[in-house]
Amino acid sequence: MVYDILVVGAGPAGLALSSLMADMGQKIAIFDRQSEKSLANPAFDGRDIALSEKSRQILDTLGAWQHIDPDQVSPIRCAKVHDGDAPSSLVFDPARTGSDRLGNIISNHFIRKALYDVAKTKANITLFCGAEVSALHRSDTSVTMALSDGTVFTGALAVAADTRFSKIRQSSGIMADMHDFGQTMIVGRMKHEKPHHHIAHELFRYDGGLAVLPINGNKASIVQTFAAETASTFMDMDDDAYARATEVRLKGLLGGLECNGERRAYPLVGVYACNFCTDRLVLIGDAAVGMHPVTAHGFNFGIQGVANLAGHLRMALAKGRDIGAAGALKAYERDHRRLCWPLYQMTEKMMALYTNTTLPARLARKAALHAAQAFQPGKDIIMAKLTRTPISGLLANKLPARPRLFM
Ligand SMILES: Cc1cc2nc3c(=O)[nH]c(=O)nc-3n(C[C@H](O)[C@H](O)[C@H](O)COP(=O)(O)OP(=O)(O)OC[C@H]3O[C@@H](n4cnc5c(N)ncnc54)[C@H](O)[C@@H]3O)c2cc1C
Repeated sequence: MVYDILVVGAGPAGLALSSLMADMGQKIAIFDRQSEKSLANPAFDGRDIALSEKSRQILDTLGAWQHIDPDQVSPIRCAKVHDGDAPSSLVFDPARTGSDRLGNIISNHFIRKALYDVAKTKANITLFCGAEVSALHRSDTSVTMALSDGTVFTGALAVAADTRFSKIRQSSGIMADMHDFGQTMIVGRMKHEKPHHHIAHELFRYDGGLAVLPINGNKASIVQTFAAETASTFMDMDDDAYARATEVRLKGLLGGLECNGERRAYPLVGVYACNFCTDRLVLIGDAAVGMHPVTAHGFNFGIQGVANLAGHLRMALAKGRDIGAAGALKAYERDHRRLCWPLYQMTEKMMALYTNTTLPARLARKAALHAAQAFQPGKDIIMAKLTRTPISGLLANKLPARPRLFM
């Protein structure tokens, strides 16, 4: 069967790129090992995504934002970062940028469903479910993929959107920097006694990290990070014991807690592919960059990368060029590296510092937090990036030109 683009993985990245490319008249085949039923109605997976304004705008352009129930969108009005047991915190208040929120929290399964619903409206997208790709061959002029049932597909470009443990990346000989943090993240929603005022908290406790993501209606997504062996103790607790243990760790921040849904555990492994493309193959989403969730950027980077790649492919098509040729793919790689590399590196260093409980490390993180809190221009830049509002005054004139990232 002949298509223009063969996409492996119908997660947010694969679906978003397919829809953007379908709108450019490309014929797309998407392969996912999951059933159509689970892709059409994804189950809650515990991930509550902190979505930046830029990502929201991309979802809006795709027509996916319109599929999301506004009641399921919880604003983040302010964010606070706390170190150990220190009373002071680093505060991000978007009021300075003229925006009423730093971003929005939306459950991952609603985003997946919205992107699936959009892709299903495109006549030139065919979704192959329960499909496992068993072989990929690339030549100078085309790519060929075989499924485990023996069906063969040909296209001009193959796309790996098959998670941070991408088999396509591995089988194509693309190396990746993989960092096992030796930690597990437990996520789950809770109801709580005290109001959260839509403030998100990141608490770097000495016994492991904690994050509070405010959800409409006095609920929060509570994200806890533990050494792998401790995590299994917390996963084995019944709801009541888990709620009491979390109250202790939150030190009364939200008052009494009650579990509100299932808990999920995610082992933490950061992945950064050494190349985002090779002949007629491009990596997107977590297959290219699998971020540690602590900085809440995996999805945001993935969707921005997709928009960026689509922009370069649009230009290639407009010039009558082959979309599988190196030019557009290399341009995406350069832009995406520029977008992700600094925060990927910073996250790795930050996690090394925050999982180290020696006295010098504790002093270093306290000093870093105080310096960051005192340096308002730095906070303004971060908030302007999240909210996509221009920052005012002198600082705006000092900002370097923003790299062009499509749209
Ligand atoms: C606990 C947690 C919290 C997070 N919070 C945030 C946040 O606040 N903000 C943020 O920006 N990001 C966050 N992220 C990251 C975000 O969830 C991911 O970056 C995003 O889901 C990746 O999307 P993707 O499409 O690349 O991959 P995925 O969503 O993993 O989808 C990949 C798809 O590929 C399919 N697949 C895999 N292998 C094969 C194969 N061999 N053949 C066929 N199909 C295959 C899978 O079935 C799946 O459907 C969080 C992640 C976690 C774990």
